[in-house]
Amino acid sequence: MPDIAKQAVTSLRGVGPRMAEKLAEAGIERVEDLLFHLPLRYQDRTRITPLGAVQPGADVVVEGEIRVADIAFGRRRSLLCRIQDNTGTLSLRFFHFSAAQKNNLQPGRRLRCFGEVRRGASGLEMYHPEYRLVDDSQPTPVEESLTPIYPSSSGLSQTSWRKLCAQAVALLAQAAPRDLLPGAQGYGLSLVDALTYLHAPPPDAPQELMREGRHPAQLRLALEELVAHNLSLEKLRRQQQARGAPVLAQGQAALDEFISTLPFTLTSAQQRVVVEILEDLGKSVPMLRLVQGDVGSGKTVVAACAARRAMACGFQVAIMAPTEILAEQHRASFASWFEAAGITPCLLTGRIKGKARRSTLEAIASGEAQLVIGTHALFQDDVAFSRLGLVVVDEQHRFGVHQRLRLTEKGQQPHQLVMTATPIPRTLSMVAYADLDCSVIDELPPGRQPVQTVLIGDSRRDQVIDRVRAACEGGRQAYWVCTLIEESDALEAQAAEATCQDLEARLPELRVGLVHGRLKPSDKEAIMQAFKAGDIDLLVATTVIEVGVDVANASLMIIENPERLGLAQLHQLRGRVGRGRDASHCVLLFKAPLSHQGQARLTSLRESNDGFYIAERDLELRGPGEVLGTRQTGLMDFRVADIQVHGDLLDRVRELAREIADQRPAQVEPLIRRWLGNAERFASV
Ligand code: ADP
Ligand code: MG
Repeated sequence: MPDIAKQAVTSLRGVGPRMAEKLAEAGIERVEDLLFHLPLRYQDRTRITPLGAVQPGADVVVEGEIRVADIAFGRRRSLLCRIQDNTGTLSLRFFHFSAAQKNNLQPGRRLRCFGEVRRGASGLEMYHPEYRLVDDSQPTPVEESLTPIYPSSSGLSQTSWRKLCAQAVALLAQAAPRDLLPGAQGYGLSLVDALTYLHAPPPDAPQELMREGRHPAQLRLALEELVAHNLSLEKLRRQQQARGAPVLAQGQAALDEFISTLPFTLTSAQQRVVVEILEDLGKSVPMLRLVQGDVGSGKTVVAACAARRAMACGFQVAIMAPTEILAEQHRASFASWFEAAGITPCLLTGRIKGKARRSTLEAIASGEAQLVIGTHALFQDDVAFSRLGLVVVDEQHRFGVHQRLRLTEKGQQPHQLVMTATPIPRTLSMVAYADLDCSVIDELPPGRQPVQTVLIGDSRRDQVIDRVRAACEGGRQAYWVCTLIEESDALEAQAAEATCQDLEARLPELRVGLVHGRLKPSDKEAIMQAFKAGDIDLLVATTVIEVGVDVANASLMIIENPERLGLAQLHQLRGRVGRGRDASHCVLLFKAPLSHQGQARLTSLRESNDGFYIAERDLELRGPGEVLGTRQTGLMDFRVADIQVHGDLLDRVRELAREIADQRPAQVEPLIRRWLGNAERFASV
């Protein structure tokens, strides 16, 4: 889509700087982005439903003559207006209304309304319908197509979305892009047909089918998108394999020695995964392996074993973690595990600056630093390795595929190990990680006791505070996690600061610490060290501690407002406790009243400690869109496709991708560009 792809949304009518800002928040910068911003559902304003035929629960347009309009005094004062046509009657109820409004609704006038029909005190009712007076003598036209309801998170009105998307669709018709899945391959629909249909479906469109995401227009787009992803992953894989990797087949003795000096015995699941990794490392094609394991299953030490092998073969190892806290923690674990082998890991994060940074970079470039642990800072341009043989990416879902690739560009072609605790349903992993082989650590180290989870309403906050006091006085440590809906570091930090002050005042006998994303990295690290060393009893934190943090003596976690977080994220957070010998507890301190769905979600967390079960429940309850937000997935950034819904297309996807690569190779790049063209934009975050 050459023109539309480049055209900024600001070129559209009605898009000023403020609107552009809101759109950007929703990830929409170009006209093309609007085209792929597809409606969630539709309203049917194309026909008038006779009053005798309305059903509760339906959104409908009705029209009738006003019979009465009176104030009703029930539990709440309301304006009740009854309309009638020749098939029946319906009540309209307004809880908020002005005198002018009441005056307007004079018996005898004709009213056209749109709203949801419900069962009310007076039979079927519409609450606060949209309405207007219509003229008897000349019929008022109805809409010609179904009215789209767009997803809207950034406070843009439906009217704005409709106007913008309609403009984008009109532009699309003028500059029809090349059709890359012609004829039957594309369900007989061109890309333009499919997009036009979905933004403005005809009155008789099968809405049920569309709600399920199974309309041919939706399948057409999902198929093309999945094909594009498949081609792009294939391309990456080919590029990597073409380069060849160092064969890391030596050093078994060093590895055995290393394992024997660990303070614990590897579980059989860990041993199995280590063997799978070693097999890959011994080959001359680069390893691309994903290690999945629930929180606390011991992925870090598996990575350490792989690292030992690579170093024994004379290569450098880079380990990348998503946060500074986690990078520092890995440095500390690796330092103690590798002490006997005489290997000291070196740390490279964004905060290491000036002279220290220069000398670290030198050590990396000369090969003197064998084991380098860090954050994103590891793949900046000035970092050059001498002989990088293995890259480990921890908490892979926090990074995009492109970030991962940038790090691998640092070596001739290092082997790659990526680790994640976020359980990924199978269908999803086939697509999202098509370029990876997969190992699963499906066993926890012995002696772990499942975390007991309870739901407590915020009216019992005092009791929860008593519980924290008792646990800490008994020598245990606790986390108090503050959450916010908005992903704003600043607001989140503020909330955590306020909570911390309150808890300090109410728990004067405890040593309370605070950690959040706004602190200077050195302060963060100092606090985490103090907590780890037992110098802090209660750590008030934001979700910065979500991934990886490992303090075995902490056995109580309070999560405030857990209803705001996804289940997978809560499970991760809760995984910070239950790491030691003591029975651990997690208190979900929710804000009452909980919605029915909120209750169902939190209950599944109480019922299970199994990340896979929880992820599946989350999928059921919330749908994959939310479970797999961009942040959760890295690579999984589909515009249209939904793996839960379109999983059955995957065989066709693979076939088509192969056919295009073989018979129409010139179309591979245009397809990738159309659907993943903006991937580079994410690479720099
Ligand atoms: P995760 O898989 O969540 O990253 P970690 O690697 O942080 O888990 O491991 C959790 C804790 O379990 C760490 O303290 C680690 O040292 C410990 N651990 C790992 N493997 C074993 C094992 N086989 N036996 C006992 N403890 C282990
Ligand atoms: Mg971990």
